[in-house]
Amino acid sequence: MSVDLHDYIASVSDFPEPGIVYRDISPLMADGVAYQQATDQIAAYAQDKGVDMIVGPEARGFIVGCPVAYKLGLGFAPARKKGKLPRPTISASYGLEYGKSTLYLHKDAIKPGQRVLVTDDLLATGGTIAATIKLVEELGGIVVGTAFLIELKDLGGREKIKDYDMLALLQY
Ligand code: IMP
Repeated sequence: MSVDLHDYIASVSDFPEPGIVYRDISPLMADGVAYQQATDQIAAYAQDKGVDMIVGPEARGFIVGCPVAYKLGLGFAPARKKGKLPRPTISASYGLEYGKSTLYLHKDAIKPGQRVLVTDDLLATGGTIAATIKLVEELGGIVVGTAFLIELKDLGGREKIKDYDMLALLQY
């Protein structure tokens, strides 16, 4: 029996600023059945794509990608914010729905030719995921898929990553 994952997303009006409806994945993570179901769905997609490495941006890309990596016995590389990675890195800057940021990836995080799945909790404008994809490709990785719990359809993210295959479990 599967659950409806929509029931595990809290919609919060006027957060983090007036006029924004924030989609909070905390209830999904807090429920073992829902979190496992979401993880299993993304793991099936990753297996189908022949993924051999997973990369996700700080911080909720880890929440989505790490359990999938564990389930499939794959590695996970974190794309992190400034000052978090201790060894040589590459970087990519991007515009965020609520500001601007830069992501970093260790230079040895990906081996050239590795088939990579990029994960995040939510696709909005696509800036975060596009920057993560750029980092993977700069290291010679092949992005064979992208996976999200949620796609916000009106913000154009899908168009921004139209050259890549994409799985979104829920749409708003
Ligand atoms: P994008 O770069 O515009 O696609 O924004 C996606 C990033 O912003 C993701 O890493 C999300 O964690 C975060 N984000 C944007 N809007 C929301 C939201 O409504 N709920 C949760 N996270 C969000």
